[in-house]
Amino acid sequence: MRYFKIPEEAVRRLPIYLRGLLSLSEQGHKNISSKILAGFLGVNHWQIRKDLSYFGGFGTPGTGYNSKKLIRQIRKILKLNVVHNTALVGVGNLGTAVLRYPGFEMFGFNIVAAFDNNPEKIGRRVGDITIEDVSNLQALRQRKIDLGIITVPCEAAQETFNKLIAAGIKGILSFSPCYKTGRKKVKVITIDIAIDLARLPYYMPARRITKV
Ligand code: NAD
Repeated sequence: MRYFKIPEEAVRRLPIYLRGLLSLSEQGHKNISSKILAGFLGVNHWQIRKDLSYFGGFGTPGTGYNSKKLIRQIRKILKLNVVHNTALVGVGNLGTAVLRYPGFEMFGFNIVAAFDNNPEKIGRRVGDITIEDVSNLQALRQRKIDLGIITVPCEAAQETFNKLIAAGIKGILSFSPCYKTGRKKVKVITIDIAIDLARLPYYMPARRITKV
């Protein structure tokens, strides 16, 4: 099934719904209404219904969604129903924290390889992962790794980006905004905490802001 003209924002919210459904399902909820899910996540129930309607009707009026079924369907829509092996490049402060983050398991992601160019780091272990020389990056395709995470300094981001694409990577999560991409076939998502922080004061009541 192909989904056309789905707003990017709706796709962005699906993993949030999935996380809520997984938690509620673990708590024993077999059927979950959009109101229960909305209350649990602190979002609008009409938004959930609208977002899910882009992908077909999942709920039964009055009884809500069968949680296991909806979890399966959202996983399928997000293509999380297949294993995505992931490689991380740049095992510094942020890269180490990402490697140690347990939250990827919930969505079935495996970070299976980590690379750095610092000879002192190569061969060291972070959890179960042994840091490899970044010159081994080209073997990702043979290792069935299709996603990449970039946590290198800004000046190394473009080079890393190009290497990951040359190695056959199909999706990149970058913590560095310092690259240009012209490749339509590779989806790149950039995470910048500063950008999210920068829109936070907008929502603060004026009386709560201390002028400096
Ligand atoms: P860091 O200096 O601690 O770590 C960078 C790592 O990358 C080091 O281990 C270094 O050896 C390695 N490296 C450098 N060049 C490389 C190359 N060409 N190939 C492979 N490895 C290479 O830096 P950090 O504090 O972990 O930050 C990493 C990146 O994340 C920076 O770009 C920083 O701006 C960014 N950052 C983003 C956010 C965010 O919210 N997006 C927050 C903090 C940091």
